[in-house]
Amino acid sequence: MKEDLKAEVLRKIDTWPRFRFLHLPTPVKFLANLTEKYKGPEIYIKRDDLTGWGFGGNKSRKLEFIVADAIKKGHNSLFTWGSVQSNWCFQCALTSSRFGLKPLLLLFYQDKRPEDEGNILLDRLAGAEIYFYEAPAGKVVTRDLASSLIEKMLPELKAKNLNPYIVSVGGSMPFGSMEAPLGAISYLLAFHEAWEQAKNLGISFHYVVHATGSGATQAGLLLGARIFSPQTKIIGLSVSDEKTSFSQEVRTIVEAALKALSLEIKIEAEDIIVLDDYLEGGYGVFSPRVTKVIKELLQREGVVLDPVYTAKAMIGLIDLIERRYFKEKDRVLFFHTGGTPALFAYGKKILSLES
Ligand SMILES: *Cc1c(COP(=O)(O)O)cnc(C)c1O
Repeated sequence: MKEDLKAEVLRKIDTWPRFRFLHLPTPVKFLANLTEKYKGPEIYIKRDDLTGWGFGGNKSRKLEFIVADAIKKGHNSLFTWGSVQSNWCFQCALTSSRFGLKPLLLLFYQDKRPEDEGNILLDRLAGAEIYFYEAPAGKVVTRDLASSLIEKMLPELKAKNLNPYIVSVGGSMPFGSMEAPLGAISYLLAFHEAWEQAKNLGISFHYVVHATGSGATQAGLLLGARIFSPQTKIIGLSVSDEKTSFSQEVRTIVEAALKALSLEIKIEAEDIIVLDDYLEGGYGVFSPRVTKVIKELLQREGVVLDPVYTAKAMIGLIDLIERRYFKEKDRVLFFHTGGTPALFAYGKKILSLES
């Protein structure tokens, strides 16, 4: 894309409401030990687990825009949902409280109500009001179900003078009170940030690899790459959905972001790379490989991975290297999207899987 168009995109995003509370840029580091072991491409890491907000993670970038949008629209509360160990929900809780909005969370559990551990402990400490709900057995929680449950609670909340900004899980899909895909916009900027860091190091990345869940991170990185570094490919490693339906979600968010930015860029089907080979049993389910990779990154690189997202993405990255997906001269950037609090909720399970 032409220089003036790049500048125009950045200028446009700059006019949107945003509170700046993160420690940016997050570090980019070369993983020398891992690179040496696998003898494949050079592996770098973007430490978005170190945004300096709560325990960091990708949701904090999204909330710089989302909470500013909520305040601008006159809300005094924020309502969202997720699974019990949702990183998104904790980040919503702490950001809402910090900016004077009452955090309301609908948390879905399977089988039995969870203990106040990991992110739930943090939700409580951050001042969230939590409503627990048993997820339908064997089914994913849909936007329709979550939003209809929230809808039913609105009169009761109104009686308490709460007027919640309703935002979809992960801050990804434009829905409820969030009209533009603000989460994806924040990740367009995250790509730009990493691209500038690479430029300062005198390098560029051939691939960016990351865990993908509700789609905004991938949509934003994809657009960032198309605008600033078209030769960089983005690979989203799914932790929950199968690739066909999930690619469609990413596309919907991409199209919404293009519309919000008044940009005309054609995104081809092959630009949206989602792999679903590393689910390791499904969302929040773990295999011995999860424990193994967490230990490996900690012992070799001093990096803590979480079991739900980043460990699975790293399993995928290592497997792709071993299967010679990349060339030896390639440079690959692994985006660490955070999630470390969940490690402490699943500790016993993870140790029991040690092989
Ligand atoms: C939410 C989350 C993701 C996925 O990001 P999306 O934008 O929802 O796709 C990846 N890693 C971690 C740790 C997360 O909490």
